[in-house]
This record gives sequence, C-alpha cells and structure tokens, in this order.
Amino acid sequence: MSRRLVGVAAAPGRARGIAHWIVHDLPPVPHRTIGAGEVEREIARFEVARERACEQIAQLRRVTARQIGEIEAKIFDPQLLMLEDPELVDGTVSYIRENFLSAERAFDWRLLEFRFRFLDSAHHMVVDRLADLQDIRFRVLSDLHDGLGVDLAVPDQPAVLLFRELTPSFAVGLDPERVLGVLTMGGTRAAHSAIIARTLDIPAVVGIGTDLEQVAEGTSVIMDGGSGRVIVDPTEEEIEAYERLVTHLKLRQETRDEGAAGPNYTKDKVRIRLAANLDAPDGVRAAVRAGAEGVGLFRSEFLVIGRRVIPDEDEQYQAYRTVVEAFPEHDVTLRTFDIGGDKFPLFLDMQSEENPYLGWRAIRVCLDRPDLFRSQLRAAVRAGAHGALKLMIPFVISLEELLRTREMLQEVIASIPEESGDRGIPLGVMVETPAVVETLDLLAPYIDFASLGTNDLTQYVLAADRGNVRLAHLADPLHPALFRMYHRIRETATQSDVDVTVCGDLPTDPIGLAALIGLGYRQFSIPASSFPVVREIVRSVSTSDLRQLCDSLRDRTITAEIRAPLADYVEAALPADTASAVHLSVGVTGR
Ligand code: PEP
Ligand code: MG
Repeated sequence: MSRRLVGVAAAPGRARGIAHWIVHDLPPVPHRTIGAGEVEREIARFEVARERACEQIAQLRRVTARQIGEIEAKIFDPQLLMLEDPELVDGTVSYIRENFLSAERAFDWRLLEFRFRFLDSAHHMVVDRLADLQDIRFRVLSDLHDGLGVDLAVPDQPAVLLFRELTPSFAVGLDPERVLGVLTMGGTRAAHSAIIARTLDIPAVVGIGTDLEQVAEGTSVIMDGGSGRVIVDPTEEEIEAYERLVTHLKLRQETRDEGAAGPNYTKDKVRIRLAANLDAPDGVRAAVRAGAEGVGLFRSEFLVIGRRVIPDEDEQYQAYRTVVEAFPEHDVTLRTFDIGGDKFPLFLDMQSEENPYLGWRAIRVCLDRPDLFRSQLRAAVRAGAHGALKLMIPFVISLEELLRTREMLQEVIASIPEESGDRGIPLGVMVETPAVVETLDLLAPYIDFASLGTNDLTQYVLAADRGNVRLAHLADPLHPALFRMYHRIRETATQSDVDVTVCGDLPTDPIGLAALIGLGYRQFSIPASSFPVVREIVRSVSTSDLRQLCDSLRDRTITAEIRAPLADYVEAALPADTASAVHLSVGVTGR
C-alpha cells in the first residue's frame, strides 16, 4: 500500500525515483578545552577557517551569478555578512581567550547563541536565517575538523533527495541532471533554497514535517512539486499511470516545440489565454519557451527578500525591463512588493508578529514606506516605456489603498515625463481578501483589471494558514464557500466590466482549472512548468458542458461533492492515456 505525504508546493514539476537522504547535520562538536599557551594558535585556526569559508562562499556567489543569475547570487550576501559580523567573530575569539575553548567549540557556542536569538524572535524570517547559519556552521566546522565525517555525496544514479533543511549553498550545487527532485522537512516557499530549486527547474516539496522521517533510504517515491503531494512506495498501478502521464506530456511538448505554440482553444472553440507567473526575471526564458501569452503575475518581492539593502531603482528597472522586453506582443503584470507574510527583506525592520499573514504585509508596507514604494513605482514606470506593463497591488482591503497608490503612481509619472512612455500604466488589484470580494463592484470604477489570488483567498476565507502543513487537508480551494465566491467574483466582474485573470495556483490542479472554466474564467496565469498539463485540459474540455456542471454544483455543501463530479468530467474528457495519470498525479481524491 502506498502512502501519501503533503507539503508546500515549492518548485513545480514531477519526478519518480529512489529516495536518498542527504544528512548534513554535523555530529556534536567535542568539548575540548585548551591550555593558556594554545590560545593564539586556536584563534589563528579559527581565523583561517573563517576566511576560507568566506572565500568558498564568495566563489559560490560568483558561480551562481554566472550560471543562475545575479539576483539569485545575492542570497549569499547575508552569509558573508554573518561571517564578518563582529558579534560573531569577536564573541568566538573571546570564548577562546577567556574560556579556553577550542576554536570549533567556541565558534559552535557562539552560533548556538545566534540561533537561540533568531528562534526567540519567533519571526518567519528566521527560517532563512537558520539555513544561513547552518551553512556557515557547516563550512567553518568542517574546515576546522576534517574528521567530522559527513556524507554529502549525491548518489551516482539520479535520485530524489531528502533533507531536513536544504541550505542555499547546497541548493545551488544541485545538478538538475542528477537530482530528480527535492523533499524537505522544513522550509517555506519563499526560502532561498526554494527559489533556487525553481530557477534550476528541480521539482521541490518543502515543509513536509516529521512525516518525511518515515521515508527510508532507497524507498521509491513519486512527487509533484506543483501540488505539494508525494506518493511513497507507489503501487504498480500508480507507477504505470505516472509513466503514462510523463510520456504523454513529453510527446505533447515535442509536438508543440516543433510548431508554434499558438493560442489555446477549448473543445468548443472558446479562447483561453494562458500567461505565466514569474518569481524572478530569469524565469522569462522558461515562460517564453512554454508559449506564455505574457506575464500575469511577476512576483517582484523576490528581488528584495533576503537583501540587506534595498535594490536601487536602476537594478529594479533593469529587472522589470528584461521581462517586459521578452514579451513585445503581450502584457506583463508586475505585482508591487508583496513582502511580509512569509517573505522578509533584511533591510526593513519588520518586527515579529503573532500572525504575519494578517499583519504588516504587501501594500500596507509599501504605503507606510513611501521611499521603498516610490523607487519601485519609478522603476516600473520607466520599464513600462519599453512595453505593455501593468501594475497590480496585492493584499488590498480598501479603496483608500488603491487611491493612494494611484496618486503616488501619477506623481511618479509626472516627475519623469520624459521616461514614462505614452501608454499609461493600467492599475489593478489582487482579489485575495474577503474584503475585496465583497466590494469588487464598488472598486470596479477605480481599477483597470483584477486578478484572483486563490492561494491567499483560500487561507483568509477558510481561516487556515497557508504555510501550516497540518491544515493542508482543510485548505481546499474548492471548498463550497470558495467555489461560490469564484462564481460571484466572475459575475460581478462581468457586470462591472472588469477584466479578470486567475493568478493563484488553483488552475494548476486539473479539477480546479475545470471548475474555473465552468465558472466563466478565460484567462489564467500559471507557472511555466504547468503549461503542458493545463493546455491539455483546456483543449479537452467544453466550456458549455462545464458551465452546466458548475451551475449544478453551487448548492453542494461539501468539497468532495464539488471535486468528484468535476474529476469524473475531466477524466472522461481527457485522452484515455492521460486521464488516470492526471488523476493520480494531482491527487484528485487526495485533498
Ligand atoms: C495568491 O495569493 O493566490 C497569489 C497568486 O499570490 P501569492 O501566492 O504570491 O501570495
Ligand atoms: Mg497572494
């Protein structure tokens, strides 16, 4: 019997392979004291190890910049700063000098204090900082103590790698040819290592929790980084279904690569527009290759998380312009910084909050920090002169936020008339709070478009933290409350003449996509790696059948009664060789 695990979908894509644990927990550092005469020698040993660690990280930073991108390379800056932090360095030296501890023991103690301090802050941001600490601990201690005996070897055969915590420096070293996928106990979608996995196109499911410990070395696993699901010890039937899916999608991909991607139509010839979600500018290549019709969500905050200093206007301008120019014929929707929640830049003093997802997040931060916001707006306006850029505000709850943003945008445009181009910048909102759902008709005259954020809307409507894996089974975006809301949003948008796209992850689930099409949505923005499955489903379904079906589901009281008929429809509509596989892969019944 197979088992199922659920985690946070961190990097899309599917994989099947043998589980291989990478354990980079160092064994306990022996307690060793030294004599007074050895103090200077121990300090020198520590200094050499620290400098070597700095050099290695700087080298990793250079390689990352060359092979992945300059923005990703900056994730190593906090580690370099930590290794130069006088509190860490002087603290270690004084433990050696005053407590007569060995270099490794003194450094480890000092790091432990840092760790407790981070944990004390109870801040989501610590997840990233802890991974950084682990990285530098590993480097300095392995240098000081060759014999610590840690096996970091990746097996010769490609495998699915399992980690307690994936640190950034290990993540950048992952070879996509040999690493089929990554599963971790800890981590968040916004963690540096998850960003790297997405950039390297390695499927990843993070935050699985202690259940992952039950997966023994060498066990066979199937994983889906787009839905956060993992099948441990799959049955023959599940393996066959999975293989059919992969073969089918590959064939589709090849056929499509040979010809132009072209627009997408449903079976009854209704046009569906598929744009891409981007987490970083480097993602544009994959988006163009996938045949995306523009960008429906560019998560600009990935430019700032983990950064010690605000990226200046020019750096932002270059990043936005790169994306805009990659799509000369399509719109690019830049979302203003969605920081807070689980994404924290280091340059903002973000106090620890009891409920960060209900806290100082996104537009609230931007309006409170006009210096930060203005530089983003200026960069966006300048980039907008090179293409069709739109601006979208996340986490909106009120008209005041929208009006204040528009006012600032207009001030910025007026301040740089020669760089603003002549197209104007459409301004829209994410529909991801219940407040906006309820007042969409009232906001309509003030917005140029809206985009449905099913990820946050689900957590806010169902009162279930999206990062809490324990609640994953409750946070179903097809809960009747949400299903009815999607219907109402669509109706209101049509009546109020508001152009609406869906940019949350729901359409990457075939059942979710079918539901949204049935409810009248025609524009979706999805990760590049989801294009093959989504296209397949778009082409196989009929909007009129789905409309009828969805009409009959609006009075259903439990989620399974919504999912099951839609799953049956999708399965019957898809070509026989994909149906059961899609069913399996996305865990239609598993939610
Ligand atoms: C959403 O909330 O649905 C969304 C698209 O934004 P994010 O996942 O970045 O919060
Ligand atoms: Mg959101």
